[in-house]
This record gives sequence, C-alpha cells and structure tokens, in this order.
Amino acid sequence: MVNIEPTKYIWANGKFVDWKDAKIHVLTHCLHYGTGVFEGIRCYETKLGPAIFRLRDHMKRLESSAKILRMEIPYSVKELSEAIKELIRKNELKSCYIRPIAFFGVQGIGINPTGYPVDLFIVSFGFGAYLGEDGLKNGIRCGTSSWHRISPSSLATMGKICGHYVNSVLAHTEAKASGYDEAILLTDQQYVAEGSGENIFIVKNDLIMTPPLSAGILPGITRETVIKLAKDEAYEIVESNISRSELYLADEVFMTGTAAEITPVREIDTRTIGNGKRGPVTKRLQDNFWKIVKGENSNYMDWLDFVEKKK
Ligand code: PMP
Repeated sequence: MVNIEPTKYIWANGKFVDWKDAKIHVLTHCLHYGTGVFEGIRCYETKLGPAIFRLRDHMKRLESSAKILRMEIPYSVKELSEAIKELIRKNELKSCYIRPIAFFGVQGIGINPTGYPVDLFIVSFGFGAYLGEDGLKNGIRCGTSSWHRISPSSLATMGKICGHYVNSVLAHTEAKASGYDEAILLTDQQYVAEGSGENIFIVKNDLIMTPPLSAGILPGITRETVIKLAKDEAYEIVESNISRSELYLADEVFMTGTAAEITPVREIDTRTIGNGKRGPVTKRLQDNFWKIVKGENSNYMDWLDFVEKKK
C-alpha cells in the first residue's frame, strides 16, 4: 500500500470540490463492471516551477482508452490539461502524482452503458518513489506470477481501463504475499509481458530488449521514453519476445512506469540478476531520465508542461 496525504481540492465534473466531497453513487456503472479509463501522470519540481511530464501523451492515451470503451469524454484535452494545472496550483503542490479518471456513471442497471453520463474526476497528491527509494538505487525483488497478463484476445490491452486492473491486483498481491516487491506477468504463450503496473526491459551483452505491444502490454509512456533515451545513447534496442530464462540470465533487468519511474530489478524468482546491483545501463538511463523530468536537458523541454502561468 502507498499512503497518501489528502490535498485540499479534487476536480469533479468541472468543479473544484473539497477532498472529502468527491463522492460517487453506489450504482455507478464503473463500480460494478470496471467501465472507466484513467491515467497516472507525474509532475516534477524544476527550476521553472512544477512541470508535468508528457501530459499530452497521457491525454492522448486517455482518449484512446475511452475510444476502445465507446466512451465520449465530455471535456476536451485542452480543458482537462488546464484543469490539471489549475488543480496543482490550487493544491499548492511542487511535485505530485495526478490521477484523472473518467467512468460511466449512474443511469439504470445492466451491462450496456450506452447513453450513460460520463463522470470525470482529477485527483492530485504528493507521491514519492512507488517501489521505494531503496528500490530505485539498489533494485527490487520480483517473482513471476501464476497469473498471466490479460490477453489481447479477451481484453483491449492497449487501453488503460479500470476493469483490467483486477489482473494486476491478483498478480501484485500474490507477489507481496510471497515476499516479493513486484510481480512479473507472462503471456499465455509464456513470454514475458510486464509488471503489475510497469513495463519491463532486459539488458544482455549491451543489447536492450523489451516485449512488443503484441505481448498484450500497456503501451507505457515511460517505456517509450526509455526507448528514445536508449537510442540517443546509441544503445542497440529491440522489441522482441523474451522468455523466462532470458530474464534470469540477463545482465540487467529494470521496470518502467510513471509511478515506478526506472526501477532496477536485482532478483527474480530467487535468482540474482547480474551481480545483484543496479547495472550501468540502468543507471545511465535513470540519470538521463532524472535530468529530463527536472528540466535539465534542453533537448527535451517539449516533454514538460509548466504549471505556473507565464508572467
Ligand atoms: N503497464 C501497466 C499495466 C501499467 O499500469 C502501467 C502504468 N500506467 C505501465 C505499464 C507503465 O505505463 P506508463 O509508463 O505510461 O506509466
């Protein structure tokens, strides 16, 4: 569990309401059937004030997830982006995690949400390292899950859709109960897919590999960021199916996600990965990532949306 401190306001269907007043009705369609779409976004502290990392790309993915669900979000990307910035200002946050969620609300009962109202809330709060500060530096311990990653033949894996996350919850809680920090889910074909809330990469003989989207993974924005940074550094990087034994024999393994950022993996199923420490490729990518999110790399300012109004 990750504890959070309540902030003052939550954006609820166009209004800023008190944290404690952001409530929903028990007949909300999404509560019963998982019919919501959401995002996890980070805002970092920079010299030019708080800056949201890849906001436009997160908004695009929110729209894509809604399209898959045949959901019409009743606000434009511009309106939502402004709402997010205003919320951060009103909550006086220097850095934070941002969670917009759109879902089918209350109308009748039954599977079909066509014509239902779509509710949209945005929450923001201070948030540290999701898998722990120590994890970022020294790596985490993972177990491959007995639960497979949801398959693209039964769920729309490209969407960040609420109901999909039961798969993540089963895998993550199983991993925790077995004493691991995080789960690694395989596909039905036994290839590596991803973590419960992270994409995964391996490094072997200086080649970086990550599973392809066809493995049913979420198209992670941090994954895409890392692919770009790896190419910048002239690393060879390929999207390819990875077997479980390739994980064990990798020189380095790391996970990526908005919450997890770039987290090294030091052990999988009680096998030490590499020398059991954060590897040099992981460290280099992390260092470049921190510079970018903190606004210290002028080549990537376009990925930052500054929260303060320009004077
Ligand atoms: N996979 C899953 C299942 C996730 O929930 C997340 C977090 N959104 C990711 C991967 C990583 O995606 P991103 O880098 O866009 O946060």
